[in-house]
Amino acid sequence: MRITHRVGHALTTRGKQSPDGVKEWAQAEPIAKLVIAELNNYEGVAQKRVDDPTGKVDKSLKTLIAEVNDFKADVHIDYHLNAHGDGTTWTSGHGTEVFVNTRKPKEAVELATKVLNNIVSVTGFRNRGVKYYNWDMVNFPKATNILVEICFMTNKDDVSIVRSTDGQIKIAAAIVEAIVSQYNLKRKGSKNTKDKQVVQSKVAGVTSRPKANLRVDGYLGPATISALQRYFGTIVDGKISRPSLVIKAMQKWLGTPQDGVISTPSLMVKALQKRFGTPVDGIISKPSLVIKELQRRLNKGDL
Ligand SMILES: [Zn+2]
Repeated sequence: MRITHRVGHALTTRGKQSPDGVKEWAQAEPIAKLVIAELNNYEGVAQKRVDDPTGKVDKSLKTLIAEVNDFKADVHIDYHLNAHGDGTTWTSGHGTEVFVNTRKPKEAVELATKVLNNIVSVTGFRNRGVKYYNWDMVNFPKATNILVEICFMTNKDDVSIVRSTDGQIKIAAAIVEAIVSQYNLKRKGSKNTKDKQVVQSKVAGVTSRPKANLRVDGYLGPATISALQRYFGTIVDGKISRPSLVIKAMQKWLGTPQDGVISTPSLMVKALQKRFGTPVDGIISKPSLVIKELQRRLNKGDL
């Protein structure tokens, strides 16, 4: 079967971003990439991504539609994040919805329902239902088309999941699982297709963490904090609040109590020093050896 994918908009599109400036495209793209990589492991699947993979060009609808039609797609999937309010403040609107065109083709409704239910079940996002609207990108007469509004980019809780590697893997696996079950796809070289665990671990194998470009100066300043926030998929503001989401994420990662606060001395800092092989005193000096090592590792994109 032939599948096209398109991540909504581009890095250069005005608006279409979270209140902290992270673009819709940038947040949906890792998930689409994972879906494509994973579906390549299935027999008889041919795929094409029709948005600009560099994110520079927001292709016109006319171009996108021509590319999907030229590829003779059986299925087209459009990836988006929803927004609520004026887009400059975090708001309460949250959850997942999947759009199908108003002709309500049976196969598209079935696929949309599976994608929706799977995403909701792995993320805990609110189930907002399958919706019907004739967006241009769900209006291909010869393909089964769905448009997935994964969650709200204007909601802090939704965003913390969609930006985390763990969340991206789960959401991608949820979409893959829906397609695999709808079309009864067979994994290459294997007899069964049922095991979601297999899908998830394979998907995990292709994720990568962002690489930072920090000066290794040993100071825990805004650039280093932002890089940490990006790495752990929390809100990026370059500040450590009390309590802080990124500190909580680091505490979880290091296996120390998760209160979101760096106390003096700190169990989390001790654990970090132990892990990085620097002197263990639980204190971040200015400059600090453990922060230097942290900066070096963030620059490699691998803690
Ligand atoms: Zn969109």
